[in-house]
Amino acid sequence: MLENTSRTELSSLGEFGLIKHLTQFIEITNESTIKGIGDDAAVIDFKNKKTLISTDMLVEGVHFDLTYVPLKHLGYKAVSVNVSDIYAMNGTPKQITVSIAVSNRFSVEALEELYSGIMLACAKHKVDIIGGDTTTNKSGLVISITAIGEADENEIVYRNGAKDGDLLCVTGDLGGAYVGLQLLEREKQIYVESPGVQPDLEGNDYILERQLKPEARKDIPTLLKKLDVKPTSMIDVSDGLASEILHLCSQSDVGCNLYEEKIPIDPSTYNTAREFNLDPTVCALSGGEDYELLFTIDQADFPKIKANPDITVVGHMTVKKDGINLITKGGSSHPLTAQGWDALLNKE
Ligand code: ADP
Ligand code: MG
Repeated sequence: MLENTSRTELSSLGEFGLIKHLTQFIEITNESTIKGIGDDAAVIDFKNKKTLISTDMLVEGVHFDLTYVPLKHLGYKAVSVNVSDIYAMNGTPKQITVSIAVSNRFSVEALEELYSGIMLACAKHKVDIIGGDTTTNKSGLVISITAIGEADENEIVYRNGAKDGDLLCVTGDLGGAYVGLQLLEREKQIYVESPGVQPDLEGNDYILERQLKPEARKDIPTLLKKLDVKPTSMIDVSDGLASEILHLCSQSDVGCNLYEEKIPIDPSTYNTAREFNLDPTVCALSGGEDYELLFTIDQADFPKIKANPDITVVGHMTVKKDGINLITKGGSSHPLTAQGWDALLNKE
């Protein structure tokens, strides 16, 4: 909602001028980047390591709303969600490509903001921007990022390795990004109805950051290595805990018991969810966008992780025929579904 004071039209630069303008300060820092922006293709070399590749596309009106998402945050988030997928393979992101489709509604300054967020996240994750594509669009903004990473072959963790008896672990806490979104949506509604009213977002920094500036868990592959733990399966939490558990279970051909009381939820997430008459557990299960890592470990590895404040054991894997269940705080068992709203809202 902040207005930029100066406005340079995209047409004044043209496509090549724009690409040059946006990419002029990009520097290459990784040894594996042989050739970055400027040729027909980038060249990378991971020597004896395996290459990991993951793409995500963000579409205005579907994945983000520019009424309350600053472009700098959007750029930062677009990188975060992509490198998160590389961390979820237990790998290290090294390069990204950035493709954008923009309408002339956007000024050069607006795209500078977007790129400042992209570059900030790249600096944080030590990732080189090695190319992309730029095109016009009749309406709205589309941003597609491809993340490229490396991993030793024997370090890669897939979704399909969980086995009966493994412990189910999650990093950080859940539900915050969803509750943050509810808050932003509410303030947008108030703004639309009475534009003079200032948004009341005081004291909600944590959940707003969870939504607007998610941090991919760069620290976790390093931590697991230090603890000498290789997960048996792993996934990042982009669509909500329930949906990710279903993915791990179906790909690994196992069942799972998830314990409601163990699900890590920050007090500010909990309190704001309550304010909105939402069940905090449901926010964690179905909310999504937390970009934490969900993984399974062999029981024998439990002593190695148990003292770590960043990792919470939330359940354990079972044989497939036992199903995928949420064990509620009251002790009853309910089948977990991806869109578990109705069932879960009436759970006790
Ligand atoms: P081509 O015609 O071969 O597609 P372009 O003129 O589109 O090449 O791009 C020129 C160079 O700029 C390439 O290296 C390309 O990867 C890079 N590039 C284009 N758009 C972007 C962007 N939005 N962000 C980063 N790099 C870009
Ligand atoms: Mg091109």
